[in-house]
Amino acid sequence: MKIHEYQAKELLKHYGVPVPAGEVAQTPAQVRDIAHRLGKTVVVKGQVHSGGRGKAGAVKLAKNEHDAESAGEAILGHTFFFAQAGSDLTVGRVLVEEAVDISKEIYLGITQDRAQQRDVLILSTKGGMDIEDVAHNNPADIAKAFIDPLLGLTDYAARQVLFDAGFPKENIAKAVPVLKALYAAYLGTDATLAEINPLVITKDGTIIAGDAKWDIDDNSLFRHPEFAALKDTEGEDPYEAEAHRRGIQYVRLEGGDIGIIGNGAGLVMTTMDEVKRAGGKPADFLDIGGGAKADAVTSSLEVVLSDPNVKGVLFNIFGGITRGDEVAKGIIEGTKSLDVKVPIVIRLAGTRAEEGAELLKTTSLIPAATMQEAAQKIVSLAYAPK
Ligand code: GDP
Ligand code: MN
Repeated sequence: MKIHEYQAKELLKHYGVPVPAGEVAQTPAQVRDIAHRLGKTVVVKGQVHSGGRGKAGAVKLAKNEHDAESAGEAILGHTFFFAQAGSDLTVGRVLVEEAVDISKEIYLGITQDRAQQRDVLILSTKGGMDIEDVAHNNPADIAKAFIDPLLGLTDYAARQVLFDAGFPKENIAKAVPVLKALYAAYLGTDATLAEINPLVITKDGTIIAGDAKWDIDDNSLFRHPEFAALKDTEGEDPYEAEAHRRGIQYVRLEGGDIGIIGNGAGLVMTTMDEVKRAGGKPADFLDIGGGAKADAVTSSLEVVLSDPNVKGVLFNIFGGITRGDEVAKGIIEGTKSLDVKVPIVIRLAGTRAEEGAELLKTTSLIPAATMQEAAQKIVSLAYAPK
């Protein structure tokens, strides 16, 4: 789960990383009020789930509250292209923050290195907006520390990586606690990425986080009820957002029109291949999981059918823990409550498949004996001239 800069900076502050004073605004008038309260040069920053906002034009410095209001007008409600996200995003909120007097921009990040099986701290004194170019053209300018999982980030390891990166010597003592606080925040929030770019050394030698980018491991969210409020589905596919709210594993495919529901990721992917081979375009990947009960099936069908492009739905269920009769009941209930206008083909195999097939007999749902037959049936029915 990605969170916004202003939310990540709250976390950083909590863990003891210095951040500039600031507040979030949704209107230019609020931007002006915040700038007035701060009473100095501010930076107005669009809050979207992408880096590269500076290059996109969604970060602006403003000398006074009037300029701040204009910056708010130029950013809020506007759509920018973010190369890093590879898409247009519309800005609904801005962070208005006291501007920092930058002497040096440092890149500081922590993520996982799968090859080393460790967390890795990455540091470069060539931080700022061109860090990707530095990584590409001058990899020697990037220092790394692989963090020992038992020792954590020790003072000496932090000092070593600061030396390796060529961090200004007079600021190293002050930087060590910042690195350690970032690592504590990364661990404490179950982050998969914690990045401060730029970490600013100001003209008077203060170290402060100029930006923050944070990804939280979705698999850890069950133990962080406090993060539920941080979720922002802005910019997400609305169908996927709804599916995820319902706890359904669903990925929508742009341009597809055959809805696909199955149990088990491998089976669903194979079903997508078969539909493609039969000449159809899969509209989604939906895995109802093991042991799915009738209401989960109904809910999944509802999500797939909410996509207006869907011309037909294929269920491919291999009963193991999941029972064929439970799935059949769910499909029958779902089709009753949903007023379905498209054909639905169902292939059931395994546990209680016969009982399931028996239930389907009295309905307009179309059975298929094999996956290939099911794929061919749904494609010919969905694309049949009306
Ligand atoms: P990003 O482009 O999405 O990573 O957004 P950043 O928050 O990193 O801002 C982009 C750039 O704007 C930074 O690299 C800085 O050069 C500049 N910037 C951001 N905040 C300030 C600030 O408070 N003062 C100054 N002088 N520049 C800033
Ligand atoms: Mn940045």
